[in-house]
Amino acid sequence: MISEGDARAKILEAVRPLPAKKMSILQAIDHFAAEDYFARLPLPMFDNSAMDGYAVIASDCKTGARLRVIDEQPAGVDRKLRVSNGNTVRIFTGAPMPAGADAVVMQEDVTREGDEIVINVDVEVDEFVRKRGCDLGEGQKILGKGDPIVATKLALLASQGFAQVSVGGEVRAAIISTGDELAKPGEKIQPGQIYDSNSVLLQSLLERAGAIVASAENCSDNGDSLRAVIQSAAKNEVLIVSGGVSVGEHDLVQSTLRDLGAKIDIWRVAIKPGKPFLFGQLGMCLIFGLPGNPVSAFVTFLQFVRPAILRMMGANDLDLPKIPAKLTVDLTNDSDRAHYVRGKCENGNFAPIGRQESHALFGLSQSNALLRVETGESLKAGETVDVQIWE
Ligand code: AMP
Ligand code: MG
Repeated sequence: MISEGDARAKILEAVRPLPAKKMSILQAIDHFAAEDYFARLPLPMFDNSAMDGYAVIASDCKTGARLRVIDEQPAGVDRKLRVSNGNTVRIFTGAPMPAGADAVVMQEDVTREGDEIVINVDVEVDEFVRKRGCDLGEGQKILGKGDPIVATKLALLASQGFAQVSVGGEVRAAIISTGDELAKPGEKIQPGQIYDSNSVLLQSLLERAGAIVASAENCSDNGDSLRAVIQSAAKNEVLIVSGGVSVGEHDLVQSTLRDLGAKIDIWRVAIKPGKPFLFGQLGMCLIFGLPGNPVSAFVTFLQFVRPAILRMMGANDLDLPKIPAKLTVDLTNDSDRAHYVRGKCENGNFAPIGRQESHALFGLSQSNALLRVETGESLKAGETVDVQIWE
């Protein structure tokens, strides 16, 4: 049995970022930038009006002043107009500022009388003018290599005229759920069978991590069948096998992998739940063997599989987000394995929730956070702890 930290390090050592590729900004959501991006245009690109109103010279505009409306400047075209003392140009939101004007008066703050306006407020220089470059200067970094590409970053790239973005490689992953007892949701169930919940769990977690699920199959606890499905699924970058990695006579995953010539780097990690976790390599395929118990599969996915996938996709940050929370109960871990306690993080508090056993899927389904309690660690109610948020 190796420590969780050693297991993670060993896995990440075996993981290489996949080659980058160019992708349309319309497809790049949830990928990771494969290079640094810098602003090639300032934002705003030109001085423009923040309001529908009148472009003026601020010093002309004492309350009660009259100005002659000499022209109109809409958005979308620069009519190269000029405002001089005593004059104003009708202007609309986003329209380029006419030369000479240094402020905009909102239309609500003037009275229009024919081709004149009467100013009803005092006006300051730069009022309602969005100055060129005030938000973003040319050359400023807008996206760093390894940063997650989220909707707002895509919008920023679009504002710079980029139609494509270079992203880290896409991970194709296969899932095999093993077990003679498994029936597919929607099928009729026989006495002694259970519904396969790990396939959908793992598929959802993979997709949430940004991977493409190439296939998801069930397989009975039979060496020959297992051999065939593993061989075919191992053409992907990642293969996740659920169940069959423990020590019973029906746990055939490890021996089948060895028969196929796989290198087993890890088997059994000091983590609770998730001890029988297996990691190996078959050709270029990374193989993760997760224990069949749903909570074990969940915890080992998040602690070992997710970081590996993120690294393959070129991400900088491989960890789940962590936030501080006040523990609501005393917790002691006197086992020989680091314990991931499932709980609910709400209003700054973390409360363990549901049965803390590896089969307890309902308890897991009520949680949104994990607290790692180290071997021998004792935590007191009221203490502030860092919890991993996964939902
Ligand atoms: P195993 O790791 O194969 O020894 O399975 C451990 C426990 O997890 C057993 O109670 C299995 O019935 C259960 N289990 C295995 N695979 C799944 C699955 N795909 N969905 C839900 N439970 C499972
Ligand atoms: Mg099994």
